[in-house]
Amino acid sequence: MTDPRTQLIHHPYQPPEGFAAPQPGVFKASTVVFPHVAAMRSRDWKYKQGYTYGLHGTPTTFTLEERIATLEGGLQCVLVPSGLAAIANVALALLKTGDEVLIPDNAYGPNKALAEGELAAFGIAHQFYDPMEVADLAARIGERTKLVWLEAAGSVTMEFPDLIAQARLCRERGVTSALDNTWGAGLAFNAFDLDGQGLGVDISAHALTKYPSGGGDVLMGSVTTRDEALHLKIKLTHMRLGLGVGANDAEAVLRALPSIALRYRAQDDAARALARWCAQQPAFAQVLHPALPGAPGHAHWQQVCGAADARGNGAAAGLFSVMIDERYSAAQVDAFCDALQLFKLGYSWGGPVSLVVPYDLAAMRQRWPAHLARGTLVRFSMGLEAVADLQADIAQAMAKALPA
Ligand SMILES: *Cc1c(COP(=O)(O)O)cnc(C)c1O
Repeated sequence: MTDPRTQLIHHPYQPPEGFAAPQPGVFKASTVVFPHVAAMRSRDWKYKQGYTYGLHGTPTTFTLEERIATLEGGLQCVLVPSGLAAIANVALALLKTGDEVLIPDNAYGPNKALAEGELAAFGIAHQFYDPMEVADLAARIGERTKLVWLEAAGSVTMEFPDLIAQARLCRERGVTSALDNTWGAGLAFNAFDLDGQGLGVDISAHALTKYPSGGGDVLMGSVTTRDEALHLKIKLTHMRLGLGVGANDAEAVLRALPSIALRYRAQDDAARALARWCAQQPAFAQVLHPALPGAPGHAHWQQVCGAADARGNGAAAGLFSVMIDERYSAAQVDAFCDALQLFKLGYSWGGPVSLVVPYDLAAMRQRWPAHLARGTLVRFSMGLEAVADLQADIAQAMAKALPA
């Protein structure tokens, strides 16, 4: 039983005596009472030997933490109230005044904003590196560098970096690496074993808001590790910041986890079918999806994700972007997005409803990436609607707003 899809369903759980339901119970508490003072003094919240206070864990959150660690190939996990809180928890646990963090220029935007805002105010420096040039990252790692963020595929522009070379570089230089693993979700590749020989990242931060929730109705994040000392560092900061998650939200994610692989594959299939179709539409100067031959980082995607699908297709999240040809004005692109009926205007992904967002890429990057056509970028995320309906929706919006 080594496949996480099976492990997630047949995962250790001890139901109350005589109530052998497979789905775990929901336990809600701030106070946890102790039988005597000795028990109160001996239980340490840092370890999962016992319960001390709701903020430090309940049977429900411990179960979810263990399942997320299983999903990601990690050993320890902490839950936080959002994916962004996972990023912040990692940064605040590992960085102090005088240190430096390196972030890929195509990282999830609020990760960069945290560095430019609070971290800079705390005297923590940052640099944004070119995710597609390992040499650029190598040149920027210095004495003060204490954390390197990795992200695959990149946010919005979907480049797949040479994750193996990046992880190896961090290891060689003795710098802690943290991957924003929301896109891979523990399904497209194993963040802790990228090359099949144990080379991986040190930390995986994951927006459970996306695939693990799957419903578009929960905000949650996780930080997963394989090193007890590193986990403890993250856990201490987690405790001191008072981060915790609600039991009903944890239950919603526990309920959705058994179907995560099915949903991931369905949204992957839909995204690839639509991306291929979009690649034939003249209104789109470029289609950005790492599984498309010719897409930025396609070979790196194949190397890391190519083995993750029994059918030999590789695995990818249900997202892609199009670069709408620069002959169309920003107003025409807005009109295209407004004309979509099934694709709703909204952030996030991984839920049942397909979503679309137009982005002002020039404002999001240090410089315009050389591998990107000029134009206006629009990102699609797949819900669970029929692909033919989604394709017809894009076609009718194009006909309305993007004349040939
Ligand atoms: C959504 C997302 C986050 C943040 O998750 P929230 O739960 O919305 O805070 C972080 N990283 C990536 C790549 C995301 O897509």
